[in-house]
Amino acid sequence: MSEQPWHTRSIDDTVRAIETDQAAGLSRAEAASRLATHGPNELAAAKPRSLLALIAHQFRSLIVGLLVLASSVAFVLGDHIEAIAILVVILLNALIGFLTEWKAANALDSLRKQAVSIARVRRDGAQLEIPAADLVVGDLVLLAAGDRVPADARLIEQATLQVDEAALTGESVAVSKATDPVSDPNAPIGDRLSMVYLGTAVTDGRGTAVVTATGPATEMGRIGALIDDVADKATPLEGKLAQLSRALLVIVLVLCAVIVVTGWLRGIELLYMVEIGISLAIAAIPEGLLAVTTMTLAVGMQRMARMGALVRRLPAVESLGSTTVICSDKTGTLTRNEMTVQALALGDRRVVIEGSGYDTTRIDALNPEADAHLDLALRIGALCNDAALDHTDEGVTVLGDPTEGALLVVADKAGLDRAQLAQDYPRLAEVPFTSTSKRMVTVHRTPDGATVAYVKGAPDELTAASTTVQDGDQTSPMTDEGRTRAAATNHDLASEALRVLALAWRTLPDPYTDDDLSRDLTLVGFVGMLDPLRDEARETIAICRTAGIRTVMITGDQETTAAEIGRQLGLDTDTQGRRLRTVHGRALHDLDDEGWREAVADAAVFARVSPEHKLRIVEALQRDGHVVAMTGDGVNDAPALRQADIGIAMGIRGTEVAKESSAMVITDDNFATIVTAVEQGRIIVHNILRFIHFLFSCNLAEIVTVFAAIMIGWPLPLGVLQILWLNLVTDIFPAMALALEPSAPDVMARPPRDPAAPLMTRRFGWLIVWQGSLLAACTLAAFSVGMSWYGTEGEGLRHAVTVAFMALALGQVAHAFNARSQTRSAFTSRLFTNGWLWGATGLCILLQIAAVYLPWLRGILGTVPLGAADWGVIVLAAMAPVGVVEVVKVVKRKTFRVGFSQK
Ligand code: ADP
Ligand code: MG
Repeated sequence: MSEQPWHTRSIDDTVRAIETDQAAGLSRAEAASRLATHGPNELAAAKPRSLLALIAHQFRSLIVGLLVLASSVAFVLGDHIEAIAILVVILLNALIGFLTEWKAANALDSLRKQAVSIARVRRDGAQLEIPAADLVVGDLVLLAAGDRVPADARLIEQATLQVDEAALTGESVAVSKATDPVSDPNAPIGDRLSMVYLGTAVTDGRGTAVVTATGPATEMGRIGALIDDVADKATPLEGKLAQLSRALLVIVLVLCAVIVVTGWLRGIELLYMVEIGISLAIAAIPEGLLAVTTMTLAVGMQRMARMGALVRRLPAVESLGSTTVICSDKTGTLTRNEMTVQALALGDRRVVIEGSGYDTTRIDALNPEADAHLDLALRIGALCNDAALDHTDEGVTVLGDPTEGALLVVADKAGLDRAQLAQDYPRLAEVPFTSTSKRMVTVHRTPDGATVAYVKGAPDELTAASTTVQDGDQTSPMTDEGRTRAAATNHDLASEALRVLALAWRTLPDPYTDDDLSRDLTLVGFVGMLDPLRDEARETIAICRTAGIRTVMITGDQETTAAEIGRQLGLDTDTQGRRLRTVHGRALHDLDDEGWREAVADAAVFARVSPEHKLRIVEALQRDGHVVAMTGDGVNDAPALRQADIGIAMGIRGTEVAKESSAMVITDDNFATIVTAVEQGRIIVHNILRFIHFLFSCNLAEIVTVFAAIMIGWPLPLGVLQILWLNLVTDIFPAMALALEPSAPDVMARPPRDPAAPLMTRRFGWLIVWQGSLLAACTLAAFSVGMSWYGTEGEGLRHAVTVAFMALALGQVAHAFNARSQTRSAFTSRLFTNGWLWGATGLCILLQIAAVYLPWLRGILGTVPLGAADWGVIVLAAMAPVGVVEVVKVVKRKTFRVGFSQK
């Protein structure tokens, strides 16, 4: 291909040089071969960490340093088996760290794969959707508002195409494109109007373009831009955990130093005390915490994906759990977006239309041939329309906007021959519907040669633009009284929760201007359509309410309709039975901050709002301290989606730009899926708190056991390898199992967690301290029984230590059941819902039994075989903490309930 830049070339020249076909595009075979030669249309992604790097990473930690130190000390002390065993611990430790991080990395990777972007192309003359990565030079790409431009391309055809090129040029005003060549070969990118560039966004219009460069060869590729990487940022919770871990590290090191010095002063050999101190530090430093947290988030995200909620950014998992307000679109999310015309209001007449859904069976009572007014209304509805009906064996489906599809269905029911109609009234021009103009106009030539405009749109606006009203086959002037009557008719339909469209028309002057299309109309009548609520919507909104989440419905539809639907959904009162308001978009103009605060304070429904309002609504709610989830589908929704704490894009109706601006995409567009995702977010945060509860209290128990024994003046109740064993076996497996808890029954019965609250609240910290101390106390009790039975010297002491070790190990396993809930009894019907936990319990018990009955393991751990009496003591000491915690839970719940009922 030549040196001449693409933007200066003519369309013909471009198409020839690139060897493609301007009408049919490339052949599939040619596209495949170009893809094979030139590679995929991808920008370099931030490289994921390699396996080797991941493994190496496991050995670069403080813990490994400490373990190496402990091993050297054991070596110096002449305890070679112990020295080698500690080296094995290093390997096992690394293996566990590696497996957790690998699992998390895999989950994130699968997430990335789900976020592929799609391009629409023409190949072999047919329109296809393909992954944007498969685009090749010469492909014809089709662009429409809301698309992300998938490669650099030369425009060959366009209609009011506007592109936001800020990603490339920094210029935030959208550029109007054209197909004419640009003469200056050195024109800056922003001035190359005949080109569109990878990574920029189509904000309006549509167009077709020939791909001129893909992947690294694009302008984006040349400036070395990386693709917007989805999921790697640390979440707020992870940040708080890292902070907490650092604080704990200091505390643990100080405590261990105290233990070492005290033990030494009590006459235990210094080096051995150093070894004990180090192993305690290793056991108590929560180094795996962050990895387990990330894994929990990532695995949770995979689970959410299976439920139809694709999280695009990891922190969103957490924010979801803290959501206090969900702002949801009405049409398609709370309702089914399956419109059925129920009534036509023509003058003072109401024509009721039978049937539901897209059943087009002929209704004899509808007889347009004998009714000119009805005929006109049906004709406008059928012609001012871009939808199509697809008749298949399963029934009729609508291609295009369901609102328009419903109008085609009534026309069929009345027996109108739509194909004939389209021929008799050829369409000359059109003004498409937008959510801002709220109307659509088409211009037709009638069989008698006149030019007419057919209009459909929002009732108030069309009534205002009408100067006459249709009356049978006559028209009469629109009077004030006529306007009042029209408004009343609209209101009647709307208060039945119907979506109302007005129909109007006029004969156009010759020549006509755009201005003529929106004035001096003749109002023909109104159409009322039913859009059934989604089955589960009302129930889901009730769930949100008990969960302390306010649902706000946002719609472009009119106030009366929206308010009625809000009532049917149960949105109109809050938990205390206070009435919530429906706010009209008109009331949102020119508000100051205070005005916005009031507007959002007790609103349940926003009607007639435009996409710009959505952004302001999010901001106002956030200023009030809310964590806001907001749904959206169009390009205009992108700013609000980005501003929201959780932007939620619709998987079916949503545009690429809306999806990219969102933290989450729901694949079925259903409100209930959003609430499921919120529930999952809460469960995940709960699980993180569960294993923190468990790990911290177990670690504390280990330290307190050794510390207290030294302070009392007893011999050491645990050996070095026993401490390391506890850390590897009875801490890790139950903690992982807690991270995988499937749910909690009351997770949606509580108010959302305050995202600003510290991780370690005073209450939570206290819980960990007393339960950890309780475990230690039971261990020490078992130890003292052992010492009184077997003495404090030599083999006898080893026996007593074995009893203490087993008591603590099994006590920890049992304690995992305490940690499942801070307030609820462990012995409920949910005792068996977490299979992982029972698996972990079984595994730990087996390993503990091995620790005393396998001779070689006994040799390493320094344990002795146990008798029946020993087991009795051990089981008592291990189960005691569960008993005590149960009693405390019951007492607390009792007082809580009393306090609650008095309210
Ligand atoms: P929403 O998506 O929240 O239901 P829309 O922006 O789609 O709201 O619609 C707003 C109003 O615009 C509707 O109440 C209706 O009066 C009008 N309207 C909707 N769709 C069309 C259409 N295809 N042609 C003309 N008018 C329409
Ligand atoms: Mg709509």
